[in-house]
Amino acid sequence: MIRGNDPILLTPGPLTTSLETKQAMLRDWGSWDGAFNQITASICRDLVDVVHGGDDYVCVPLQGSGTFAVEAAIGNLVPRQGRVLVPNNGAYCARIVRICKYLNRAVVDLAIPEDRPATAAAVEAALAADASISHVALVHCETGAGLHNDLEGIAEVCRARGKGLIVDAMSSFAALPIDVRATPFDALIAASGKCLEGAPGMGFVLARRETLLASAGNSHSLAMDLHDQFTYMQRTTQWRFTPPTHVVAALRSAIDQFVAEGGQPARGARYAANCATLVEGMRALGFRPFLEPAVQAPIIVTFHAPSDPAYQFKAFYDRVRARGYILYPGKLTQVETFRVGCIGAIDANEMRNVVSAIGATLRDMGIGSAAPALRAA
Ligand SMILES: *Cc1c(COP(=O)(O)O)cnc(C)c1O
Repeated sequence: MIRGNDPILLTPGPLTTSLETKQAMLRDWGSWDGAFNQITASICRDLVDVVHGGDDYVCVPLQGSGTFAVEAAIGNLVPRQGRVLVPNNGAYCARIVRICKYLNRAVVDLAIPEDRPATAAAVEAALAADASISHVALVHCETGAGLHNDLEGIAEVCRARGKGLIVDAMSSFAALPIDVRATPFDALIAASGKCLEGAPGMGFVLARRETLLASAGNSHSLAMDLHDQFTYMQRTTQWRFTPPTHVVAALRSAIDQFVAEGGQPARGARYAANCATLVEGMRALGFRPFLEPAVQAPIIVTFHAPSDPAYQFKAFYDRVRARGYILYPGKLTQVETFRVGCIGAIDANEMRNVVSAIGATLRDMGIGSAAPALRAA
């Protein structure tokens, strides 16, 4: 994994990509050109395969960051008179609530503490209490804290009650197992620049073919109309509007590397080793993870800020950056934290190196112990 002298991104996207992925962007492509459109088609096939979607599911790529694709999925797949239940335990869930409000889709905001997973029982109870809910929008890995929500259990509840399920799997797709044959959903959204380790700039929606084809006319927006994007692409092999050609080429290379690594099981195992190495090293320095191990996804880890008065995030961040690592601020409402990502073209050795960079930074800042103020009860 050669990266030159660029800092390592320990963030949940954009993330550190391999040299091969970066090199795939050194060529210009015509958007109408057959060779380019074959790349798009092959990517779509491979993405459906990641969730074992067979012929029942299709992939609709969309220009933009991941949120664009989430917004498009809600706008297309929830009819205008639909009602969406959002189990809400973090910032990305809250974003879906906002999207529903922008799109005038009725939304039921099911508040859950940000250190507790969304469970099948909680969703079951909410659906039982309000029969007018038509869809559940679930964030699989809530990247705000790094929480692993129970996709399998919630998909089962939705299936049993005949509710639509839309999954924001942005930070879990390709890393955590998702098998649509056992865990059915209407649509799942992810993007090029997360666990697939491509460059950012393209989202995609894996949708049940029937559901997508029945969604004509739902979209509030031309640019975000997934039905139109899909049917146009089927007819012409082309994207409707200018595609992010370099991002698509990089994603082709990134998926080839993903397959060569051993696909989702291997990628998930590498991230799990990264996460375990990070947590062990940080604990040895006195840091305490925000989440219980049982609900921690191996994607990004939230740590409590040290209680030492010499600690201040900006100075800490700058010093760790000077040592070659880019951390991520916390995104929690109640407690002061910061986050360290485990994803990207990095391995456990990199995690040992960042722990030693953080240890050296604490010494530089005169912080004796990284322990936070509060102990969990
Ligand atoms: C990254 C991410 C998104 C999309 O964020 P963008 O900044 O729009 O790419 C959405 N949901 C989750 C859970 C994410 O981790």
